[in-house]
Amino acid sequence: MDDTRQKWNNVLNDLVNQITAISYDMWIKKLNPVEEKDGKLYLQANSSIAKQTCMSSFSYLLSQSIGQHFGFEDFVILDPTEYANYLKTSEAEAAMQVVIEEATRNTSIQSKYTFDNFVVGNSNKFVYYAASTVADNPGTKYNPLFIYGGVGLGKTHLLHAIGNYIIKNNPKLKIQYTTCEQFANDFLDTLRDKTKNIATFREKYRNLDVLLIDDIQFIAGKTSVQEEFFHTFNDLYQNNKQVIIAGDRPPKEIATLEERITSRLSMGLIQDIQSPDFETRFVILQKKAQVEKYNIDNEALVYIAEKIDSNIRELEGALTNTMFLTSLVGKVRAGVNEAKNAIEEAIEESKENITATNIIDTVCSYYSIDKTSVLGNKRNKEIADARHICIYLIADMLNLPLATIGREIFHRDHTTIMHARDKISDSLEDNERLRKDINNLKQIIMKG
Ligand code: ADP
Ligand code: MG
Repeated sequence: MDDTRQKWNNVLNDLVNQITAISYDMWIKKLNPVEEKDGKLYLQANSSIAKQTCMSSFSYLLSQSIGQHFGFEDFVILDPTEYANYLKTSEAEAAMQVVIEEATRNTSIQSKYTFDNFVVGNSNKFVYYAASTVADNPGTKYNPLFIYGGVGLGKTHLLHAIGNYIIKNNPKLKIQYTTCEQFANDFLDTLRDKTKNIATFREKYRNLDVLLIDDIQFIAGKTSVQEEFFHTFNDLYQNNKQVIIAGDRPPKEIATLEERITSRLSMGLIQDIQSPDFETRFVILQKKAQVEKYNIDNEALVYIAEKIDSNIRELEGALTNTMFLTSLVGKVRAGVNEAKNAIEEAIEESKENITATNIIDTVCSYYSIDKTSVLGNKRNKEIADARHICIYLIADMLNLPLATIGREIFHRDHTTIMHARDKISDSLEDNERLRKDINNLKQIIMKG
């Protein structure tokens, strides 16, 4: 016996004791559970009189008992005509679902990220507008669309949302999501592996109608991949195919990106995504709590939204941790205290995992600079700047004595280290670019 039927039997058991035998036999017993969908129980009645009677005389009892056994109180009774339509719609929906699933296969697009569950606020309304315009008119407007912004602000979410929208509205289009890293690996594998054919690789990417490429900053320093990407891009672009790219900074700031690529990427629309304001953070938490059916005080949501202000992934993480901690201490409903503890715990934990090596590696890969030069004595500006940033971050994030940092890591005395640190903290005041970089770097480092 299926689950719905079983729960419905419990409802029948309730009602048989609550109403007269004759009403029960004539009306309630003849209802047939169809399915549970979107928090509602659908019931089939064998006549429209039956439906009317149940609704006018027994709807209160029904919703009470359904609430107890199903966990939600909403129900819909379908008379024979409505039932027939319901089946038709369900069939059409199921058929549509098959088409969508088919069209999604091998695209690497994740169905959980949609425009519907993307909260729009001041920080992202322009980029949202650009993304939805492109989704509506692939290949004709804003091509390429380049989205950039810090870690955890919704770039990947938007790329998948564009993908899902196009699949749903235009399932014939060939579409592919890939990270820059996957693209690079795919390409390099093809070159290395004699059984693989470069023509197949090219066919895969150059026959697309829509290419979504994520985390483009990782193309820095990979010359042959840049070359291949350049040709892929050109092919698609010349054929009016849509290219959408996301990265953590604008094209001209991606180190070692060839000039011809930078200028190609700048031909369309470049749109940044910023850190969400309090309002948006709060709505994101509220929605998430609703979807996950979390039992949590509004004040706790406010507290989290106030504390975690620069990264939506962390915002969601703090909410999950709060719920986890609440269940650990055996409480049913999460309050401000649980939120506070969860956030403090997370901060402690992420601090424990940070090491100087980890910081230096992150800075080097962020600026595409060789680690040995940062640790060495080279004085050209790029390298010296990266070295100073490493020193600043190590001093700031690890609370190590300056003398130790000097002696153990950079082989310099502590005044040199102090100057380097102060130089960065002074420049932070009026150098917005640096502020952004430091912010991004911290986020990446904290993430491990
Ligand atoms: P990025 O690619 O910029 O690092 P993601 O797209 O992976 O960030 O977003 C991180 C998390 O935050 C994801 O779970 C995503 O669904 C969520 N998120 C980001 N922006 C929003 C938004 N505006 N509304 C709802 N959820 C969001
Ligand atoms: Mg991402």
